[in-house]
Amino acid sequence: MIMKKFISSWGRLDSSPHNVNILHFPKILPRSSDEKGLPFGNGRSYGDVCLNPNGVLWFTQDLSRFIDFNPTSGVLICEAGVLLRDIQRLVVPRGWMLPVTPGTQLITVGGAIANDVHGKNHHVMGSFGDHIQSLHLLRTDGEIIVCGPNEKKEWFEATVGGMGLTGIITIATLQLRRVQGPFLETENRSFTNLSSFFDLADSSEVQWEHTVSWVDCLNNQGRGVFMRGNHVDLKRDAKPLNLGISMPFTPPFSLINQLSLRLFNRLYYKLQGRRRERVMVHYEPFFHPLDDVNNWNRVYGPRGFYQYQSVVPRGVGKEALLEMLKTISLSGEGSFLAVLKTFGERKSLGMMSFPMPGVTLALDFPNKGEKTKSLLRSLDSIVRSASGRIYVAKDACMPRDLFEQGYPRLKEFLKYRDPGISSGMSRRLMGY
Ligand SMILES: Cc1cc2nc3c(=O)[nH]c(=O)nc-3n(C[C@H](O)[C@H](O)[C@H](O)COP(=O)(O)OP(=O)(O)OC[C@H]3O[C@@H](n4cnc5c(N)ncnc54)[C@H](O)[C@@H]3O)c2cc1C
Repeated sequence: MIMKKFISSWGRLDSSPHNVNILHFPKILPRSSDEKGLPFGNGRSYGDVCLNPNGVLWFTQDLSRFIDFNPTSGVLICEAGVLLRDIQRLVVPRGWMLPVTPGTQLITVGGAIANDVHGKNHHVMGSFGDHIQSLHLLRTDGEIIVCGPNEKKEWFEATVGGMGLTGIITIATLQLRRVQGPFLETENRSFTNLSSFFDLADSSEVQWEHTVSWVDCLNNQGRGVFMRGNHVDLKRDAKPLNLGISMPFTPPFSLINQLSLRLFNRLYYKLQGRRRERVMVHYEPFFHPLDDVNNWNRVYGPRGFYQYQSVVPRGVGKEALLEMLKTISLSGEGSFLAVLKTFGERKSLGMMSFPMPGVTLALDFPNKGEKTKSLLRSLDSIVRSASGRIYVAKDACMPRDLFEQGYPRLKEFLKYRDPGISSGMSRRLMGY
């Protein structure tokens, strides 16, 4: 059954009409329509990669069955609409965990593969696609392609990070990693500038699996707080933290402004940077601190917000980041969530995967129309000159030339696109 619905992505920049079709396994693809469709996971992408305005969205939420789990080998087979949260809650008590999780676990396996998501441990574990043994890809002509790193490798490399454009992933086989329990030993270090950030990153990555930093984007030296964590063998009878906090309505204007940001940044730097002792933290608040605040994206008001995540090579990283921070500071805009992280040397296997060796910065900006777009264009020029790339999962307005420059395997990827699939992003950046 097809329903007409207004759908927006996590950035809430706009809400456009879609024909929504909820897929059910195994007879899942509606064949009656000539309209192009797009698989939809849990809509946690920020821009138009998960939208197909005026077209069809195939909702995968009902493809939510666990098919098999081997507690000895840690191999899990499930449908692609299963949420990462549900996998973790099933396997962590049994001594296993997903090797890679992003900043939210409220995403589907299909969405995690299609954007080849990364976590805080990229320097150790690579990205999500590195842990997929095989997947089933349903094409809109009805063909099912089973592919993996050792089988139809070219289809696998096109589909991991393929933004849903090669077909619908219906089933995936994942290799989990061992953990002794749900806890991590964590510590914080403050840094006053980017040179200290890079020193901390270099020294920490040898001994710490998870590293991530918050950076004060109103301070153009790049001060911030470096957070690191390792899994530990601590079997407390701990329940996941559930704060049950919710943003009950959308305020008429963004609650993020210069004043609130300045106050928050000062306080956060002081409080988090001061905490020097090691603390045991459950994996949920450590990996996914915002998941307990329902609808936190409403805080930016009715016009929504832009996420901007770039990666630039390490050699030019410090200069490029300083230039970005200076540009943001001069623009009078500010980012509430400014996350800095180094990627490891592992080459991404997906043709269109985002991670590459270098340093990545993720920023949020309330949508103030042309003013914000102009800032994003200035940031684009810095990324372009540094030979970097923008993360499509977060993007809503990168120019086509920057996309083509940042993703050198694009031409090769286009051969694997499914002609029955299209998205707002693919029309904007690929022309169809
Ligand atoms: C708070 C927050 C923190 C985040 N942190 C990170 C982070 O640390 N690292 C990171 O990499 N990302 C991060 N993200 C982005 C998020 O992980 C990705 O956008 C993810 O792909 C969203 O998955 P989803 O299931 O919601 O899919 P959607 O957003 O609905 O779709 C994403 C893409 O996957 C495709 N897709 C979905 N299901 C299928 C399927 N079954 N078959 C084929 N294609 C499919 C869609 O067509 C679309 O192109 C974060 C997002 C939020 C909101």
